[in-house]
Amino acid sequence: MGLSKETIFQGVLDYLEEELDYIDITMNLWIKPMTVQSIDGGTVTLICENDFKRNKVLTSYVDDLTEAFEIELERDDVTLVFRTRAEIEKEDEKKREEELEKKKEEEARARRLEELPMVNPAYTFENFVVGSSNRVAYETSLMACRYPAEFYNPLFLYGPSGLGKTHLLFAIINDILENKPDFKVVYITCEAFTNLLIESIAKKKDPMEFRSKFRNLDFLLIDDIQFLKGKHAVQEEMFHTFEALYNKGKQIVFASDKQPSELQDIDKRLTSRFSAGGVIDIQPPDEELRQAIFKRKAESFGVDIPNDVLQYLAENIKTNIRQIEGAIKTLKAHSLIGGEKISFAMAKRVLSEYLKKAEEDSVNSEKILKYISMRYEIKKEDITGSKRDSSIKNARHICAYLMRNLLNMTFKEIGTVLRKHHSTIMESCQKIEEKMKTSDNFRREMESIEKELNS
Ligand code: ADP
Ligand code: MG
Repeated sequence: MGLSKETIFQGVLDYLEEELDYIDITMNLWIKPMTVQSIDGGTVTLICENDFKRNKVLTSYVDDLTEAFEIELERDDVTLVFRTRAEIEKEDEKKREEELEKKKEEEARARRLEELPMVNPAYTFENFVVGSSNRVAYETSLMACRYPAEFYNPLFLYGPSGLGKTHLLFAIINDILENKPDFKVVYITCEAFTNLLIESIAKKKDPMEFRSKFRNLDFLLIDDIQFLKGKHAVQEEMFHTFEALYNKGKQIVFASDKQPSELQDIDKRLTSRFSAGGVIDIQPPDEELRQAIFKRKAESFGVDIPNDVLQYLAENIKTNIRQIEGAIKTLKAHSLIGGEKISFAMAKRVLSEYLKKAEEDSVNSEKILKYISMRYEIKKEDITGSKRDSSIKNARHICAYLMRNLLNMTFKEIGTVLRKHHSTIMESCQKIEEKMKTSDNFRREMESIEKELNS
């Protein structure tokens, strides 16, 4: 077709005058003042000056107009729609208002996101792959999010690193931003909370400023709460924040790498609050779940991974879901750079290196034992043996403490490695903690050991 709507309308006017003998007065009064707003297939929308004129056209000229448009458009299914200028203006205004409203909402949302640094919008409930090891954590998070403070308050999620705790916290926020735009929600890591508090004190700011930031919320999520360890001023502030929100019936969610009863050096009154709602663990994924996560991650990275490779990966990458992402990225990079399709043989080759590196990078109990033995020049057999020289005992205590704090091992597990009763291990850890509190030199020594082990 290609003709403009003005040209088509001119054709219609000509047709009415020449073929249907419309007189000038009819044309000038009723027909010509109209304009064509749009032509969409057989639907022609005409704008009339006002309601009165529209009624006249509708009662007297609609059949002729339809005929004329059918001729001009060369189709037999024309429907005419008549609207008035006032209607259109009103609609335009409504549209403008809606757009303005939408813009305002987006701005408000952006502002709220600014206040919530680091919240990854890709971490949603939908993107969280659910299996038996994380189902309860997933469901309770969803409940806390959809029914704040009704079921699990506070909700306390715990489990080893890389199993999706932060993912679930972000999922809650993303869900709230979407479904409860008026809700005031804040996500903060315990570390950031600490830094803000320190800054507020150091700059001698009005303490009310800090307080009002965290105590007038509908929903507060605090990540990596184990970081509170030993920080008693922060614990004090956290306690009052908790009480303020809790007493107003607001939802609080914590994530931690240990369960409340295992958190060390945190006030009892806080840990008992942590345990008062729901304490939910996330366990390492079983093979089936690992395979499902691999599949989902591969899709999201746009990588095509055959089933036998997925299975191979799930069999070999076991502990940490972060490693799953690393493995897929590694495979993707290799296939992009080498131009080689991802196959079983290729995956085996590439991953064996990746796995070896991951193994070397991660601190494990063997590595701690070896390092401490080297650093203090004490034989490994002596550390795990029964000699009671003070230097040997000291090395033993340090090993126990490090396994506890770097690896999150239970006293019992450490006991197995060091061949000691778990109550002995507990005492060892306490001794080191005491010593770190009383001696700055020793504390620095421990910090340097931790750094070395983690580098
Ligand atoms: P944590 O906070 O427990 O240390 P994260 O939430 O940071 O762990 O998770 C580490 C990575 O693993 C993230 O990229 C996260 O998206 C991913 N992840 C963890 N669990 C799942 C899951 N069930 N489904 C999909 N991705 C997951
Ligand atoms: Mg985390």
